[in-house]
Amino acid sequence: MPTWVVVTTALIGAFVIWRVGIAMLRSLTMSRAPGSASDEPAPDEPEDVDDLGVYLVCGECGTELRVSRLGELQIPRHCGEKMQVVRRPEPA
Ligand SMILES: [Zn+2]
Repeated sequence: MPTWVVVTTALIGAFVIWRVGIAMLRSLTMSRAPGSASDEPAPDEPEDVDDLGVYLVCGECGTELRVSRLGELQIPRHCGEKMQVVRRPEPA
């Protein structure tokens, strides 16, 4: 076997091993990133908004929900529509 064949084969082999190693590393890091709850940052403490008079109002049927503690702001739906956030500070 001529020397150049040996060298070329070795280079190709090294290249393949290098690519496979990168692909394995990438799949390892990819599989760890999404889905696992342990890596996600802890949610912030819910804010106490009981004194602010925050209400969630349904524009369709008029249902009102009083918000006493506000965590991550996600507007719930009622009657298929997003509820409106209304502030009604209680008169002092
Ligand atoms: Zn409604």
